[in-house]
Amino acid sequence: MASDLRLATAPIVRPDKDHFLDENNPFEAMMSRFDRAAQLLDLEPGLYKVLRHPEKQIIISVPVQMDNGEVEVFTGYRVLYNTSRGPAKGGIRFDMNVTLEEVKALAAWMTWKCAVVNLPFGGAKGGVVCDPLRMSVGELERLTRRYTAGIIATLGPDSDVPAPDVNTNERVMAWIMDTYSMHVRHTVTAVVTGKPVEMGGSLGRREATGRGCMIVTKEALSHLGMPVVGSTVAVQGFGNVGSVAAQLLAREGCKIVGISDRAGAFYNRKGVDIAAAVAHLRQHRTLEGFAGGEPITNDDLLTLDVDVLVPAALENVITSRNAGKIRAKIICEGANGPTTAGADSVLDEKGVFVIPDILANAGGVTVSYFEWVQDRGGYFWSEDVVNQRLTEIMVKSFHDVLHLSRQHKVNMRTAAYMASINRVATVHKLRGIYA
Ligand code: NAD
Repeated sequence: MASDLRLATAPIVRPDKDHFLDENNPFEAMMSRFDRAAQLLDLEPGLYKVLRHPEKQIIISVPVQMDNGEVEVFTGYRVLYNTSRGPAKGGIRFDMNVTLEEVKALAAWMTWKCAVVNLPFGGAKGGVVCDPLRMSVGELERLTRRYTAGIIATLGPDSDVPAPDVNTNERVMAWIMDTYSMHVRHTVTAVVTGKPVEMGGSLGRREATGRGCMIVTKEALSHLGMPVVGSTVAVQGFGNVGSVAAQLLAREGCKIVGISDRAGAFYNRKGVDIAAAVAHLRQHRTLEGFAGGEPITNDDLLTLDVDVLVPAALENVITSRNAGKIRAKIICEGANGPTTAGADSVLDEKGVFVIPDILANAGGVTVSYFEWVQDRGGYFWSEDVVNQRLTEIMVKSFHDVLHLSRQHKVNMRTAAYMASINRVATVHKLRGIYA
């Protein structure tokens, strides 16, 4: 009985994600980039101190009655890093490797990501230390509801709006929305994003991150005077972000010569048939055994001689060890933190144009913002409208960052941090310090 229930959790959890948490924690590297941007902006020391500290850190114990009748107590966190620009926005992850330090850093990351695309949100993150792969659907539901009750004072469409993250999905968001709504005695769809479309989710949300990658890649190609049609692309990771980015870039006329997932990588000089790869994935759940390309290693995929490389799987895959071997002219960071700080300078020296993660993968949070707007307005947009508005925001943000990078003669990553820190700092200055 219990094992049947465990099997049923498969759609709830996202097993690929556990890999990210085994990697070296990249968040200190993120803060070192923050420091460099803050220095270039000549940020006032007081503001620097404010932006270096999270606003609020919540730690709760989450008791859950397990299926075997015993009570287990889990630790849950929610960190609101900065809410000067609007309600806190950021995902909730369920994983054994969740720590307060990590949640804090991810909340900071969300603050810069929302600011770089100029969304009226602050940054937050949450997590529960648990192993969802070993839990039944019922246990996960009780955990989600009790965690939600524990942080309910901070939640709300005007204060803190969670979303899915590692090992949580739209079903978990539905439980959070329901728990919150039961507490406040009316239905509040805008309290979370990434919900099922049937209950206030947005059309286009699932594809939004990959679509955002496609949009900024096209802008980068055009900026560098390279054609879109016929440009060669390698994509690492064939999950939500990588498979959608590959499909949409192929649709624009790019030639996707390399794809990969955790099972392996495939190269096809003439271009991989992406529709066939997606069909293979649907049938087998991995790319293993895919016959549409020659098998290569995941390391080889990263160093293919291509115009565009889209790392859309893991953190820390481009490091000082392999950065010198990268042959792509453009890197579009679909994943969070795929490039280490040590690799940045090597890529700069080689003249690789890097579209940094906080810009490249911001399409997801942008459509989460659209979801929140639609829920609050009670009026839902067509997928075309969602995609068109996403395109406007991604194109404008790309050019804002590009402009800053030329003005200050810095790379796109530093410019993206400068743009976002400047936006957050400006609001702090305007608001002043409440005493
Ligand atoms: P996912 O779980 O849907 O897909 C991850 C993919 O990476 C899978 O195809 C998996 O097989 C592959 N993978 C795992 N280990 C690998 C390895 N060693 N080599 C090659 N491929 C490997 O996850 P996702 O939602 O597509 O997220 C991917 C990245 O994008 C993560 O860094 C995530 O934080 C980031 N991101 C996602 C979103 C979103 O909306 N989904 C938004 C912003 C950033």
